[in-house]
Amino acid sequence: MAGSSAPIVGVLALQGDFREHIAMLKSLGADARAVRRPEELALVGGLVIPGGESSVIDKLSRIFGLAEPLKSAIRAGLPVYGTCAGLIMLADRVLDAIAGQQSLGGLDISVRRNAFGSQLDSFETNLDIPAVGVTPMHAVFIRAPVVEQIGAGVTPLATLADGRVVAVEQGNLLGTAFHPEMTGDTRFHQYFLDRVRSMA
Ligand code: GLN
Repeated sequence: MAGSSAPIVGVLALQGDFREHIAMLKSLGADARAVRRPEELALVGGLVIPGGESSVIDKLSRIFGLAEPLKSAIRAGLPVYGTCAGLIMLADRVLDAIAGQQSLGGLDISVRRNAFGSQLDSFETNLDIPAVGVTPMHAVFIRAPVVEQIGAGVTPLATLADGRVVAVEQGNLLGTAFHPEMTGDTRFHQYFLDRVRSMA
């Protein structure tokens, strides 16, 4: 029965900080597993695409025959949460991509890779994210993308002080330009798990 046992949540484990996501999801009671093969993807009720390097995750997902199964799963309504490079993978349009780089798509957004330039590669700030609670969330940005344009069906969940969007939600998809798995604040992962349970 939906919600009665630990949800099976995959973390795409081709490259990037998938171990941190698995640890955080396990700490919240999920049955969290690394996903590297289509057979493993077929078993999960939700998926996290971690931060890392989107051009590498893209290349490996195509080499390992995961790109098409991932696209089908996204279209079929699998709850997916992408952080940073994972957000880039979920974007319909990627600005400043490397030559030949593809995304899986699904989120009707344009994201710009490495949007904060070399001067400010990485930074931390507090964000108001009403969807996950009243206390501001400490957010870590590492060579992060920014959402430059959003379609009508997309809800922005968090913005920087200058108004730029750094977290979005659309149907079964959730994305953040920052890395909640690195701060010990579990609220975004809890929010995602609640969505996985409600969509089961
Ligand atoms: N700059 C990376 C990319 O383009 C994303 C960085 C991250 O995931 N922390 O994929």
